[in-house]
Amino acid sequence: MEILDGVEMLEIQIEAFGGHQELNPTLIWDGTTAVLIDTGTPGQLQQIRKAMNDTGVPFDKLKAIILTHQDIDHIGSLPEILKESDSQIEVYAHEADKPYIEGKLPLSKANLDSMAWQLEGLSENIRQEIVAQVNNSPRGRVDKTLFGGEELPFCGGIQVIFTPGHTPGHISLYLKRSKTLVAGDSMYSVEGVLHGPHSPSTPDMDTAYHSITKYLDFDIENVICYHGGLSKDNVKTQLKNIVEKS
Ligand SMILES: [Zn+2]
Repeated sequence: MEILDGVEMLEIQIEAFGGHQELNPTLIWDGTTAVLIDTGTPGQLQQIRKAMNDTGVPFDKLKAIILTHQDIDHIGSLPEILKESDSQIEVYAHEADKPYIEGKLPLSKANLDSMAWQLEGLSENIRQEIVAQVNNSPRGRVDKTLFGGEELPFCGGIQVIFTPGHTPGHISLYLKRSKTLVAGDSMYSVEGVLHGPHSPSTPDMDTAYHSITKYLDFDIENVICYHGGLSKDNVKTQLKNIVEKS
């Protein structure tokens, strides 16, 4: 668990696709209100609850969930969290990904063609498990539609940056108080080193690289990638290098 200024970064270890994969939903907490960015894969409610408990954030203080995009490892536990909570939680997502999250359209990458890169070399059992997940995709309601450019009034201010490419409605979030960029899957990181969009899972790489140029307008000191976690060394230079190489 990393703690920045007013930002708890939940690290949830999951076993997915035949191996260990660590996901990094971000929990923001200002002592009164908790906001969760992304929700893990299906079946992770208890892990999320425990991670919140361990860090002293009561589950019933969760007032908002912001989804960076529609992929199954980001929206997976949304239905369970909404069912479990008796408090009013508002769900935020971008207009372009909203119909997928609500189940009006099938998730754009939850099909076996798009997931072929993840399925290579897996046993038949695991493949079947994935097929079952894909055929029974999670869906949840979205209360507030985002377009990009908004500032949400939580925990010192959260700015919404529209960063399509990985999906049509991908957003990133800039946490003003801690100067932290929550990058979703617009980039990934390996041991603190940022990498541009992950090509096997990003259908529109040109748009995805263009989206990263938007980060240069922000004063960013920390980046949290959903896959790879926190980067805080020379982040501005790292971002410039990614943009220049694109
Ligand atoms: Zn992801």
